[in-house]
Amino acid sequence: MIPVAEALDRIFALLTPLPAETVPLRAACGRVLARDAVARRDQPPFDASVMDGYAVSDPEPLTGTVLRVVGEAAAGHALDRTIGPGEAARIFTGAPLPQGAVRVIIQENTAREGDLVRILTDPVEDRFVRPAGGDFRRGDRLLSGRRLSPSDLVLLASMNLPTVDVTRRPVVAILTTGDELVPPGAEPDADQIVASNGVGLAALAESLGARARLLPIVADRMDALEQAFALCEGADLVVSSGGASVGDHDLLGSDLSALGVERAFYRVAMRPGKPLFAGTLRGVPMIGLPGNPVSSMVCGYIFMCPALRMLQGLPSVHAPRLQAVLAADLPANGPREHYMRARLADGKIAACDRQDSSLQRVLADADALLVRPPHDPPCPAGSVVAYVPLHQH
Ligand code: AMP
Ligand code: MG
Repeated sequence: MIPVAEALDRIFALLTPLPAETVPLRAACGRVLARDAVARRDQPPFDASVMDGYAVSDPEPLTGTVLRVVGEAAAGHALDRTIGPGEAARIFTGAPLPQGAVRVIIQENTAREGDLVRILTDPVEDRFVRPAGGDFRRGDRLLSGRRLSPSDLVLLASMNLPTVDVTRRPVVAILTTGDELVPPGAEPDADQIVASNGVGLAALAESLGARARLLPIVADRMDALEQAFALCEGADLVVSSGGASVGDHDLLGSDLSALGVERAFYRVAMRPGKPLFAGTLRGVPMIGLPGNPVSSMVCGYIFMCPALRMLQGLPSVHAPRLQAVLAADLPANGPREHYMRARLADGKIAACDRQDSSLQRVLADADALLVRPPHDPPCPAGSVVAYVPLHQH
């Protein structure tokens, strides 16, 4: 058995970030920026009025000043004329400040009299001008290696970039094994189980930007496994669930070198999830998850998610851990790192009462995995503990 951190590092060693592709902005949300995006213009591209009012050339016109209105500037309609002393231009929000103008007197502080305008207050500090390039300059960059948010798209669009280069989406082939499994919605015999891991793992992978190829359930027979492996061709990552233990029917736990599986490690010192392995299937990185639904999903969060992030060009880091105060005492932990289903409430964390790795309802009710280090002594309520959040990864 190897520690969780070492297992994940060995998985990272199997992976290479995927190449880039160019996509339109509308398809870029959630994708990882593969190359710096470079602004193609200044923003704003000109000194712009922030308010509706009058643009004037005098930096400090006093109360009572009367100016002649010589033209109008509106958004998208620049005034092609210079404003001189004694002159003003009617101006609206977003309009380019005319040549010669240095500030805007807001409409509320003026009185319009025909083609004259009278200023009703002494100047305030704010000139109501948004300077050219105040947001960003041509050549400014949004750096690669970030997952693009809706706000990032706003910035990229205003940089006048209709497309961006993002890392290709990883294709994850997911295969679930077990003679007892039938798909959801089938009419299971009395000794059959409804397969639940595949949909969960596929959804988890897709929530991280991958494309999931959920393969049909694989029977516990070598020929069935071989057929399923053939369907994994072209994937960037293969994730299997089940059959990873040492039972007679646990084919994935057996030597599969004849089918092209090379193992990098087998067995991790964690709970749940001990019989996990990783390696390659005909050169494609592969993670073999245990079959118990909770083990499968916990290992999905702890191993598959960081792997998918790395494939997309994000830093190869372990699942992010946060800290919270423990709501109730916990007994000492054993020799394996324990990922306990837990709930967060009122800023505190409480481990769920039942931790058996088959209990799917407890997993559905949990919003965090409370992490107990190996041999952790008893933890009294009030201690600070680490957890992995389940719904923001
Ligand atoms: P295994 O690792 O194949 O020995 O499976 C461990 C336990 O998890 C067994 O009780 C299986 O029936 C169950 N199991 C395995 N795969 C799945 C699955 N895809 N969905 C639901 N339960 C599963
Ligand atoms: Mg099985």
